[in-house]
Amino acid sequence: KSFKDLGLDEWLANQCNAMGLLKPTPIQLNCIHPILAGEDCIGCAKTGSGKTAAFALPILQKLSEDPYGIFALILTPTRELAFQIAEQFNVLGKPINVRVTVITGGLDMMQQGLNLSVKPHIVISTPGRLADHLDSCDTFNLSKIRFLVLDEADRLIEDDFGAQLETIFKVLPKKRQTLLFSATMTKTLQELQEVALSKPFFWQQ
Ligand code: AMP
Repeated sequence: KSFKDLGLDEWLANQCNAMGLLKPTPIQLNCIHPILAGEDCIGCAKTGSGKTAAFALPILQKLSEDPYGIFALILTPTRELAFQIAEQFNVLGKPINVRVTVITGGLDMMQQGLNLSVKPHIVISTPGRLADHLDSCDTFNLSKIRFLVLDEADRLIEDDFGAQLETIFKVLPKKRQTLLFSATMTKTLQELQEVALSKPFFWQQ
């Protein structure tokens, strides 16, 4: 199967090929279709499985159909991962001029506040810094996001981001699509699943 066979638009399939992604990986083969169909999704897979494109592609397709900001919030445990995810969104979303902002610790709060206020389509953040922004300013609004992605969710929980996740969840709309990716499925993750996801499609490598 090709990217186009998964229901992706031609411009996105072309963008995959231009980026050197020639055939979908198993997580992409299995998860892209249910995400395009509007389902919540849990994908158990490690870094290197192609999980970033598995959520970036359907999000970009939905964004192209109804562009506004802030469309998707991606939470990930580290700054390095946040920049890697941003890079894939930027490359795959180039034809639609996607606006991507990274909000993580170690960078200037004020500049980040400005970046948020001009309504990026995609916000990629570590929970601690996003919670700081939510506490300190009201220049951006997450109440209309369509997608929430919890990337490396096992690490989000292990690294003790629980309190920050709670702060963030409070300002998110109930009606949204939530995608959770994790290397392992633990009991604590099941609790997170129960509060954050609704009847998810489940895929394990
Ligand atoms: P990830 O699992 O998202 O961290 O992706 C790991 C690496 O795999 C990234 O550098 C991607 O560019 C690459 N990748 C993702 N999807 C594919 C694919 N379908 N074919 C080849 N490489 C891919």
